[in-house]
This record gives sequence, structure tokens and C-alpha cells, in this order.
Amino acid sequence: MATFDFLEIRHLHIDYDNLDQELLNEVIREEPSFQWCISCGCCTATCSAGNHTTFNIRRISLILRRGEVEGLEEELKKCMLCGKCTLVCPRDIQLRNVVMNIKKIILKKKTA
Ligand code: SF4
Ligand code: SF4
Repeated sequence: MATFDFLEIRHLHIDYDNLDQELLNEVIREEPSFQWCISCGCCTATCSAGNHTTFNIRRISLILRRGEVEGLEEELKKCMLCGKCTLVCPRDIQLRNVVMNIKKIILKKKTA
């Protein structure tokens, strides 16, 4: 593959053809609105947890789409389920419901 003189940083490559999107697909099945996200960041800007911790709800959405689910459960404990993200979302995405569903699916997998 031609590199066009750009530096290749292999460990930062994202292979979009081979992502593990199992969890993402399950979340979308439970909460279809999640697929409409345009990554605008309004949810992150208003997030109660994000104002006091390193929690970043838009990042959660991104890593879920990349299939990088390691550490996700721990990170989601920071969410207060206040629902502000849902109120400000321009795409009417039910993010609070998304968070609850991710937790539910992870728990189900652990106890299966
Ligand atoms: S506010 Fe809605 S559309 Fe914007 S990043 Fe958050 S979930 Fe996605
Ligand atoms: S429900 Fe969670 S992600 Fe949404 S604004 Fe509240 S703390 Fe942030």
C-alpha cells in the first residue's frame, strides 16, 4: 500500500472492515435512535457526569462503534442517568436509554 510519505502508526490504525460491532448492534436493536448520532457533542457539553469527572458520553458512543468495549462497564458507572443528554440532543437520541441498555447487555453477557 502506498504511504505517500505519511508516517504509519500501526497501533493507531482502525480497521473499519473488521470491527467487532456485536455490542453496538445489540444496543441499536434495543434503542434504534442511537444510529442517528452525528457526533455533534451537545450531549458531552451538557453532561452532569462530564462536568465533574473525565466521563465523556460522546467518546462512549465512538468506542462502541469501534468495538473497543474494554473498560466500558467501569466508565459507565460515572453516568448519573440524569437524562440531560437526551434533552439537548438535536437528533432526539435517547442516550440515557442507550447507557442503560449497554449496562444491561454487558450484565447479561457476564451472567450467561
Ligand atoms: S447530542 Fe445526540 S447527535 Fe450529538 S453527539 Fe450526542 S448523541 Fe450524538
Ligand atoms: S444521563 Fe449520563 S450521560 Fe446523560 S447527561 Fe446525565 S450523566 Fe451525562
